[in-house]
Amino acid sequence: MADLVFVYGAMGCGKTTELLMKIYDYESEGKIVFFIKPSTDSKGDNKAVNRFGMERQVDYLVKPDESILGIITSLKTLPDAIVVEEAQFLQKKQVDELFLISKDFDIEVFTYGIRSDFRQDEFTGSSRLFTIADKIQELDKKICSCGAKATNNLRLFNGVPTFDGNSILIDNVSDPSYNEETNFSYKSVCGDCYLRIRRKYSNDK
Ligand SMILES: [Zn+2]
Repeated sequence: MADLVFVYGAMGCGKTTELLMKIYDYESEGKIVFFIKPSTDSKGDNKAVNRFGMERQVDYLVKPDESILGIITSLKTLPDAIVVEEAQFLQKKQVDELFLISKDFDIEVFTYGIRSDFRQDEFTGSSRLFTIADKIQELDKKICSCGAKATNNLRLFNGVPTFDGNSILIDNVSDPSYNEETNFSYKSVCGDCYLRIRRKYSNDK
Protein backbone atom coordinates (compact mmCIF):
# COMPACT_ATOMS: atom_id res chain seq x y z
CA MET A 1 0.00 0.00 0.00
CA ALA A 2 1.09 3.54 -0.67
CA ASP A 3 2.21 5.98 2.00
CA LEU A 4 1.25 9.45 3.05
CA VAL A 5 4.61 11.18 3.54
CA PHE A 6 5.23 14.51 5.27
CA VAL A 7 8.52 16.29 4.58
CA TYR A 8 9.03 19.33 6.77
CA GLY A 9 11.70 21.89 7.48
CA ALA A 10 12.28 25.57 8.19
CA MET A 11 11.76 28.10 5.43
CA GLY A 12 14.63 28.04 2.96
CA CYS A 13 15.63 24.47 3.79
CA GLY A 14 15.27 23.30 0.21
CA LYS A 15 11.75 21.87 0.34
CA THR A 16 10.88 23.16 -3.12
CA THR A 17 14.01 21.60 -4.63
CA GLU A 18 13.21 18.25 -2.98
CA LEU A 19 9.64 18.50 -4.22
CA LEU A 20 10.67 19.34 -7.79
CA MET A 21 13.14 16.44 -7.79
CA LYS A 22 10.43 14.10 -6.54
CA ILE A 23 8.15 15.17 -9.40
CA TYR A 24 11.02 14.83 -11.87
CA ASP A 25 11.84 11.30 -10.63
CA TYR A 26 8.27 10.18 -11.25
CA GLU A 27 7.72 11.96 -14.54
CA SER A 28 11.04 10.83 -16.03
CA GLU A 29 9.78 7.27 -15.59
CA GLY A 30 6.62 8.11 -17.50
CA LYS A 31 4.49 8.23 -14.37
CA ILE A 32 1.75 10.75 -13.70
CA VAL A 33 2.11 13.28 -10.88
CA PHE A 34 -0.77 15.45 -9.75
CA PHE A 35 0.78 18.54 -8.16
CA ILE A 36 -1.48 20.57 -5.87
CA LYS A 37 -1.19 23.51 -3.53
CA PRO A 38 -3.62 25.07 -1.04
CA SER A 39 -4.87 28.38 -2.41
CA THR A 40 -4.64 30.07 0.99
CA ASP A 41 -2.18 32.69 -0.19
CA SER A 42 -4.31 34.45 -2.73
CA LYS A 43 -1.29 35.56 -4.74
CA GLY A 44 -2.37 33.29 -7.57
CA ASP A 45 1.02 31.70 -7.18
CA ASN A 46 0.44 28.67 -9.32
CA LYS A 47 3.93 27.35 -9.84
CA ALA A 48 6.73 26.09 -7.66
CA VAL A 49 10.09 27.74 -8.30
CA ASN A 50 13.30 26.93 -6.47
CA ARG A 51 16.31 29.17 -6.02
CA PHE A 52 18.08 27.63 -9.03
CA GLY A 53 15.22 28.54 -11.33
CA MET A 54 13.75 25.04 -11.67
CA GLU A 55 9.98 25.30 -11.88
CA ARG A 56 6.81 23.29 -12.29
CA GLN A 57 3.28 24.47 -12.89
CA VAL A 58 0.77 23.56 -10.19
CA ASP A 59 -1.96 21.27 -11.55
CA TYR A 60 -4.63 22.39 -9.09
CA LEU A 61 -5.00 25.13 -6.48
CA VAL A 62 -7.13 23.66 -3.71
CA LYS A 63 -9.50 25.95 -1.84
CA PRO A 64 -9.94 25.47 1.93
CA ASP A 65 -13.49 24.16 1.55
CA GLU A 66 -12.74 21.87 -1.39
CA SER A 67 -12.66 18.09 -1.18
CA ILE A 68 -9.35 16.66 -2.42
CA LEU A 69 -11.04 13.29 -2.69
CA GLY A 70 -13.61 14.85 -5.01
CA ILE A 71 -10.88 16.45 -7.13
CA ILE A 72 -8.94 13.18 -7.47
CA THR A 73 -11.96 11.03 -8.30
CA SER A 74 -13.03 13.49 -11.01
CA LEU A 75 -9.71 13.10 -12.88
CA LYS A 76 -9.85 11.11 -16.13
CA THR A 77 -6.72 9.19 -15.17
CA LEU A 78 -5.66 8.57 -11.60
CA PRO A 79 -2.10 9.79 -10.92
CA ASP A 80 0.73 7.58 -9.63
CA ALA A 81 1.64 10.19 -7.07
CA ILE A 82 0.21 13.33 -5.51
CA VAL A 83 2.61 16.07 -4.46
CA VAL A 84 1.46 18.90 -2.18
CA GLU A 85 3.37 22.14 -1.66
CA GLU A 86 2.69 24.42 1.36
CA ALA A 87 0.97 21.50 3.06
CA GLN A 88 0.82 23.44 6.35
CA PHE A 89 -2.13 25.33 4.85
CA LEU A 90 -4.24 22.21 4.28
CA GLN A 91 -7.37 21.74 6.37
CA LYS A 92 -7.56 18.78 8.76
CA LYS A 93 -10.25 17.12 6.62
CA GLN A 94 -8.07 17.47 3.51
CA VAL A 95 -5.14 15.72 5.22
CA ASP A 96 -7.51 12.92 6.23
CA GLU A 97 -8.62 12.66 2.60
CA LEU A 98 -5.00 12.39 1.44
CA PHE A 99 -4.44 9.54 3.90
CA LEU A 100 -7.53 7.78 2.60
CA ILE A 101 -6.48 8.31 -1.04
CA SER A 102 -3.04 6.79 -0.37
CA LYS A 103 -4.68 3.65 0.97
CA ASP A 104 -7.89 3.25 -1.07
CA PHE A 105 -6.32 4.19 -4.42
CA ASP A 106 -2.75 3.08 -3.70
CA ILE A 107 -1.42 6.51 -4.70
CA GLU A 108 1.79 7.75 -3.06
CA VAL A 109 1.21 11.15 -1.45
CA PHE A 110 4.17 13.44 -0.74
CA THR A 111 3.41 16.57 1.27
CA TYR A 112 5.90 19.36 1.97
CA GLY A 113 5.53 22.11 4.52
CA ILE A 114 6.77 24.01 7.53
CA ARG A 115 6.17 22.90 11.09
CA SER A 116 5.19 26.10 12.87
CA ASP A 117 4.51 29.73 12.13
CA PHE A 118 6.61 32.78 13.05
CA ARG A 119 5.16 32.71 16.60
CA GLN A 120 5.86 29.00 17.06
CA ASP A 121 2.14 28.31 16.75
CA GLU A 122 0.91 25.24 14.92
CA PHE A 123 -0.44 25.04 11.42
CA THR A 124 -3.55 22.91 11.03
CA GLY A 125 -2.18 20.96 8.06
CA SER A 126 1.22 20.20 9.59
CA SER A 127 -0.29 19.30 12.93
CA ARG A 128 -2.60 16.74 11.31
CA LEU A 129 0.21 15.40 9.13
CA PHE A 130 2.45 14.86 12.16
CA THR A 131 -0.39 12.85 13.66
CA ILE A 132 -1.36 10.56 10.79
CA ALA A 133 1.40 10.49 8.12
CA ASP A 134 2.94 7.07 7.49
CA LYS A 135 6.40 8.60 7.12
CA ILE A 136 7.76 11.87 8.49
CA GLN A 137 11.03 13.30 7.25
CA GLU A 138 12.85 16.42 8.40
CA LEU A 139 14.87 18.47 5.95
CA ASP A 140 17.59 19.81 8.22
CA LYS A 141 19.99 21.38 5.78
CA LYS A 142 19.16 24.97 6.68
CA ILE A 143 21.75 26.49 8.99
CA CYS A 144 21.16 29.47 11.30
CA SER A 145 23.63 32.35 11.05
CA CYS A 146 25.14 31.11 14.36
CA GLY A 147 25.93 27.73 12.79
CA ALA A 148 23.23 25.62 14.49
CA LYS A 149 20.36 23.90 12.66
CA ALA A 150 17.60 26.34 11.72
CA THR A 151 14.24 25.11 12.99
CA ASN A 152 12.18 28.28 13.53
CA ASN A 153 10.76 30.84 11.15
CA LEU A 154 11.17 34.53 11.92
CA ARG A 155 8.99 37.13 10.25
CA LEU A 156 10.69 40.43 9.47
CA PHE A 157 8.85 43.66 8.74
CA ASN A 158 11.13 46.13 6.98
CA GLY A 159 14.01 43.97 8.18
CA VAL A 160 12.95 44.07 11.84
CA PRO A 161 11.71 40.88 13.58
CA THR A 162 7.99 41.03 14.34
CA PHE A 163 5.76 38.74 16.39
CA ASP A 164 2.46 40.39 15.52
CA GLY A 165 0.04 39.73 12.72
CA ASN A 166 -1.81 36.85 11.15
CA SER A 167 -0.33 33.41 10.83
CA ILE A 168 -0.93 33.73 7.12
CA LEU A 169 -0.28 37.12 5.58
CA ILE A 170 -3.31 38.27 3.71
CA ASP A 171 -3.25 40.10 0.43
CA ASN A 172 -5.38 43.07 -0.56
CA VAL A 173 -4.67 45.04 2.60
CA SER A 174 -6.58 48.30 2.35
CA ASP A 175 -3.57 50.51 3.17
CA PRO A 176 -2.18 51.47 -0.28
CA SER A 177 1.35 51.92 1.12
CA TYR A 178 1.32 48.34 2.36
CA ASN A 179 3.35 46.06 0.20
CA GLU A 180 3.68 42.54 1.50
CA GLU A 181 6.36 41.59 -0.98
CA THR A 182 8.78 44.34 -0.08
CA ASN A 183 7.96 44.91 3.59
CA PHE A 184 7.80 41.35 4.82
CA SER A 185 10.42 38.67 4.66
CA TYR A 186 11.26 35.49 6.54
CA LYS A 187 14.44 34.15 8.07
CA SER A 188 15.11 30.69 9.48
CA VAL A 189 16.95 30.56 12.80
CA CYS A 190 17.80 27.99 15.48
CA GLY A 191 15.85 27.68 18.73
CA ASP A 192 18.40 29.66 20.77
CA CYS A 193 18.47 32.57 18.37
CA TYR A 194 14.67 32.52 18.04
CA LEU A 195 14.23 32.88 21.79
CA ARG A 196 16.91 35.57 22.08
CA ILE A 197 15.35 37.59 19.24
CA ARG A 198 11.81 37.14 20.58
CA ARG A 199 12.85 38.41 24.02
CA LYS A 200 14.36 41.44 22.39
CA TYR A 201 11.59 42.31 19.92
CA SER A 202 8.31 40.83 21.14
CA ASN A 203 5.80 42.94 23.03
CA ASP A 204 4.69 40.09 25.26
CA LYS A 205 7.90 38.82 26.81
ZN1 LIG B 1 21.21 30.42 15.88
